[in-house]
Amino acid sequence: MRVRLGAAALVFTLVAAGAPGTGLAQAGRAPVAPPRTLLRGAALVLTMDPALGEGELGLLRGADVLLDGGRIARVGRGLDPAGARVIDVAGRIVMPGLVDAHNHLWQSLIRGCGAGQDVNGWLGQCVFPLFGFRFTRADAYAAVRLAALDLVSSGVTTTVEWAAGFGPEYVRGSLQALDDSGLRFAFSYFGSADPAVIGDIRLVKATLVDPNPRASLQIGGQPSPFPPFLDDLVASSRLAKDLGVKLHVHLLENVAQRQEGQVQVLELAGAIAPNLLAAHAIHLTDGEIDALGRNGVGALHCPLSNMRLASGVMRLARLRQAGVELGLGLDGGTNDTSDPFNNLRAAVGLQRATSLDPGAFPGVSEALRLATVGGARALGLSGEIGSLTPGKKADVVVLDPRAPNFAPLFGEVSQIVFNAQPANVEWVFVDGRALKERGRLVGVQEARIIEAAQEVSDRVRRLVTP
Ligand SMILES: [Zn+2]
Repeated sequence: MRVRLGAAALVFTLVAAGAPGTGLAQAGRAPVAPPRTLLRGAALVLTMDPALGEGELGLLRGADVLLDGGRIARVGRGLDPAGARVIDVAGRIVMPGLVDAHNHLWQSLIRGCGAGQDVNGWLGQCVFPLFGFRFTRADAYAAVRLAALDLVSSGVTTTVEWAAGFGPEYVRGSLQALDDSGLRFAFSYFGSADPAVIGDIRLVKATLVDPNPRASLQIGGQPSPFPPFLDDLVASSRLAKDLGVKLHVHLLENVAQRQEGQVQVLELAGAIAPNLLAAHAIHLTDGEIDALGRNGVGALHCPLSNMRLASGVMRLARLRQAGVELGLGLDGGTNDTSDPFNNLRAAVGLQRATSLDPGAFPGVSEALRLATVGGARALGLSGEIGSLTPGKKADVVVLDPRAPNFAPLFGEVSQIVFNAQPANVEWVFVDGRALKERGRLVGVQEARIIEAAQEVSDRVRRLVTP
């Protein structure tokens, strides 16, 4: 119950501050026991567990999925419905919730900004001016709450918020929004050598993250050779190891960053280790890729962002060959949408377009694995999520393909990658609790959340040229 007490205190603060559109009715979710739910008679279940069904996706046709106590209880045909809420999913596709391994939810405020920029131009135009903005809790809440809603609606059940260094109030508003969203999440708190920041990271972990079974902490870092970033990275790497959490950096996203010797900076900071997550990891040499693989580093592919910012194309096949764990990420405002299906299409298409090989990794099945079990493994959460293996958390989505953009069912697995849209996401469960039900988000006032984000965005826009 400690989490509820902490959350309640934060709720009180937000209400007292007159936070706009907070949707705080959601904060009461945790104390209710997760319901027992039977998803009955799916056209296709992608268990993502080869031991449960056919092929590497563990496919089962005409099967049921039983959710109980917040976990997957059973998967199979003709399961006993006793004591369960039975949901008829005939004609539907059931699969694990999608894992978004790298995002910046606060950037919902700056969607569409810097459309003709590369990452450095985009940061200069759209992000750096915001260090003069002074985010309140309510501001951060409004931004993150909107993006979280978009993620849930799109079939994402786990996200990673790589948070900018906008200060403790921003951190708390973001965490409250993530908690209220019902999503499973990792919060990547931007690290520093400053003892006050380190103290706050420890405090946030102990009071707001660890007591929340849906939350985990990461430390965010920047592999730059310039002060104060190098000192910050050294301290962050040390702290991440001390806390037993991931260190999450952006690595060689733009080719100009090769001049910064980012891999060498990570080596210098002692950061190339199994707890390192590297977003983008595009402009790496073969030797650097092998070093990442040898050291158990995870790399997170954000293809829509890479396309928008003219960043380049990640060498996915080479990274996989080197043994690097791979996941997919949506990457915030440089993607603009939270659509994981667009991301899947881009992950498949970019490799084909650059290799001229329709058999290039990842194929459609491999891309679906990256978006589920792959991301879960990279985040160190594969014991709990990523597949519909009994005993794992009941993070499940139901797609309804009976729509003009998706029907008829013909090559279902390929259609998830090539046809699916967020509008086809009919049900979303996290810990067995429905966050989206028959195509509608549960228990939220969408208009208020949108309005609140627009109000903050209007103030941000005075500092930023779109
Ligand atoms: Zn990013």
